[in-house]
Amino acid sequence: MSETTIVIGAGFGGLAAAIQLAAAGERVVLLEGADAVGGKAGTASFDGACFDTGPSLLTLPEVPEALFALAGAQLRERVQLRRLSPAFRYHFADGVQLDVHDTLDATLEATRRTLGADAAEELHGFARYAERIWQASAPAFVYGDAPAIRSMLSMDVRTVAGLSRIDPLRAMQTAIDAQVRDPHLRRILYRYATYNGSDVRVAPATLNCIASVELGRGGFGVEGGIGALAGALAVLATELGVEIRLGSRVDRITSQAGRVVAVDLQDGTHLPCSAVISNADARHLHEALLPEADRPPRREQPASMSGYNAVFRVPRRQDREAVAHQVVFPDEYIDEFAAIFDRGTVTATPTVYACNQRAAHGRAGWADADALFVMINAPSVDAASAPTDASALREQARAALSRAGICDAVDEVVWERTPEGLAARFPGSAGALYGAASNSIFSAFRRPTNRSPLLRGLYLASGTAHPGGGVPLAMLSGMAAARALLHDLGRPAQAACPALRAG
Ligand SMILES: Cc1cc2nc3c(=O)[nH]c(=O)nc-3n(C[C@H](O)[C@H](O)[C@H](O)COP(=O)(O)OP(=O)(O)OC[C@H]3O[C@@H](n4cnc5c(N)ncnc54)[C@H](O)[C@@H]3O)c2cc1C
Repeated sequence: MSETTIVIGAGFGGLAAAIQLAAAGERVVLLEGADAVGGKAGTASFDGACFDTGPSLLTLPEVPEALFALAGAQLRERVQLRRLSPAFRYHFADGVQLDVHDTLDATLEATRRTLGADAAEELHGFARYAERIWQASAPAFVYGDAPAIRSMLSMDVRTVAGLSRIDPLRAMQTAIDAQVRDPHLRRILYRYATYNGSDVRVAPATLNCIASVELGRGGFGVEGGIGALAGALAVLATELGVEIRLGSRVDRITSQAGRVVAVDLQDGTHLPCSAVISNADARHLHEALLPEADRPPRREQPASMSGYNAVFRVPRRQDREAVAHQVVFPDEYIDEFAAIFDRGTVTATPTVYACNQRAAHGRAGWADADALFVMINAPSVDAASAPTDASALREQARAALSRAGICDAVDEVVWERTPEGLAARFPGSAGALYGAASNSIFSAFRRPTNRSPLLRGLYLASGTAHPGGGVPLAMLSGMAAARALLHDLGRPAQAACPALRAG
């Protein structure tokens, strides 16, 4: 039997798994169907300017730091992270603008100046509550192996005090409304549900810890774009001996006697292997790559949100401040969740997000203009009641952004992608940005685990497996998959890095 581990996919999860395995001395071949690494963290260019087309905000930088460290390297020697202040500017329908900074203290001060002392106190109280949830839940749900009900019990949720620490029984919105009266702050806090594509009306309040990750620890830019982080991981993997083959689409995984033995590529190449780590969307793995006899029964889980994405070419102007991230809220926000999850559509006046890639990532843009990455949340292709009307969403984005002074109504759209486009590029994703939505208290337990229970030698490293979507979590998924494989080989897996401990 070949002693090679094949990793399918060079997204953050696949790259992280390959790095951890190669650092432990394993022979790794990484097969990527596309012609570039990065997966959903893609890049594109127009008229000489390169821009990101996927994630635009990096949280939990200690995760890539730990990954580099376990390979004997230092993230900060290869990738410059950018602290952003202001990081976010929120625009509200009543004309209020509130900035969120890179420290909680600065954000509280901005809140006090803009919304008053009572609002700042409410936000401070909420941040403390969100941090308590993070401290109590992250070791089991984020940094640990895939949780079983027993991990809940180990958090002492049998007692009322234990349960209240992670607040799983209320919905996010209920918990926010109970603690925060200011309507502007409520909107900002509701929006954190979209960070894993979930529905704030029903997602467990445990997810309010996302507020702590961003408000308490900060969101970062990456010099050269988030795509540059994927590029740096690919360089590190290559230095460790990982063979990265681009343009290598896997068609099938072959098994014998309940064990993975080979993969077959679209071009007819047959590659024997001792193990496979799949970075593909879990549904693609389960419904297309696995032999039929080894497929799990289909378990319907509602997909997380998708998005309409565009890049606008926005002329630089003296009177227009380039802020890294800006969000333009409509008058009514909660209906946006109802539209996406109940009606399978986008509201008539959706929230519009815009990332100025020069301010966030130091991307040069054009001689006289910046690249503005734009997103409107939308239902996944699975949930959509009708095909996306890109021209309507384009005009809604233009209208909202020009009203807020972020761009002009005539600015050119140089790149665009609908949920259908995302679904076609990432098979099995249905266009969802983060795998299944975390809309139930059981979502974390239903997520695919990093060691397949179906086939020996098969592991999952993906934002659609444990611990979930988003750049740092996809990397943690890769590291958890590599740990599981090393454990099964009887090899000591690197102990969890101290930097990965919560808090
Ligand atoms: C528009 C957008 C905005 C986002 N914003 C943010 C953000 O601001 N912050 C954040 O943290 N997260 C964000 N996310 C989510 C984040 O990008 C993802 O969760 C993360 O990048 C997923 O990584 P992954 O490891 O699951 O791999 P993926 O990125 O899903 O990559 C999987 C790779 O596997 C390859 N592959 C699949 N099947 C095969 C096959 N059969 N053969 C060969 N190769 C195959 C694919 O080509 C792809 O390269 C965003 C996502 C999108 C799309």
